[in-house]
Amino acid sequence: SVSPSPPAIRVRPLTCTETRRGDRQVVHSLGDGTVHVSAARHDATFGFSTVFDAGASQEAVFEGSGMRQLVELAIDGFSCTVFAFGQTGSGKTYTLMGPLAQSETQPAAPGLLGLMQRSFACLLEQSRSRSSDLALSASYLEIYNEQVRDLLSPGPPCALPLRWSKTRGFYVENQLSVDFESLEAIADLLLQGSQRRRTSAHALNRHSSRSHALLTIHVRSRAVSVHPALGTACPSKQGTLCFVDLAGSERVKETGSSGELSVEANNINRSLLALGHCISLLAKPRGKRTHIPYRDSKLTRLLARSLGGSGITLMVACISPSSHCLSETLSTLHYASRARRVTTRP
Ligand code: ADP
Ligand code: MG
Repeated sequence: SVSPSPPAIRVRPLTCTETRRGDRQVVHSLGDGTVHVSAARHDATFGFSTVFDAGASQEAVFEGSGMRQLVELAIDGFSCTVFAFGQTGSGKTYTLMGPLAQSETQPAAPGLLGLMQRSFACLLEQSRSRSSDLALSASYLEIYNEQVRDLLSPGPPCALPLRWSKTRGFYVENQLSVDFESLEAIADLLLQGSQRRRTSAHALNRHSSRSHALLTIHVRSRAVSVHPALGTACPSKQGTLCFVDLAGSERVKETGSSGELSVEANNINRSLLALGHCISLLAKPRGKRTHIPYRDSKLTRLLARSLGGSGITLMVACISPSSHCLSETLSTLHYASRARRVTTRP
């Protein structure tokens, strides 16, 4: 049994709005893997193996989180997943994609590119330097109000059925998978998909993603003859690298959501709760484990393999340092502490 990379914590800097409002910084990283939260009635210290503070660059997060190793494992045929979680505005999208997704007109400076673009570059570099021949393709889905939608297929997003089979586990029927061979091509797919996601989110909420988004890179290494004369070959391998940008947790009361917005918020909370429930059950020692209720939400079905079975998962918990976000920050840190104890058998 192998322990997956325990969650990494990323504390973002205070934003201009928070500073202007006079928010206090209540989260401090002490440099030795501990995160200290101190406010009037709360004083808590959490220990993690990896903590990135407000000064950490995008590159430092890529190198320090184990993301590079995850890319290599995907090439070696493993199912690898990285997911960012935390409340709305805590830096999930920034960590995964950089500020690129936030501005449509200006491309992000190379230094600000997120885990995704850095992984793509690493993947293509590896594919060129290894002798094996890699075939790469991408699919991009969102889960919005418990519906799975394809972000790459043309036209308005329509719901796709989520099915289960003995050989494949849970899978999405008729999901589009697009081959790519260059960094430009995959960057373009990412941009197209995230814009479609944003458009659908925009109608209801201007600034936050109201859906979970899953971008999966399929890595097939074709069999390569080692000794052409003898005809021996490396077996072909098929790995995946999945990036999950979870919608933020939200307290319905505080955001003043009503009607359609509260349906959204309830769906988000329900799937995050289901995810948290699966994680806390998986965190129990193997002998004491009961049935893991992956079927409770579309999100947990799609993540079943990476969470429990044979996958390798990297989690990045994103938090805001602001006094305004205190209770959400504490709940993210508790969530992350539970996730630490999950082990899988890749
Ligand atoms: P989320 O996806 O969790 O809702 P975002 O990634 O959109 O949050 O981040 C919210 C805001 O904070 C954005 O304006 C983003 O550019 C900024 N931000 C997030 N993380 C960082 C960081 N590490 N450094 C600088 N700005 C950040
Ligand atoms: Mg986001």
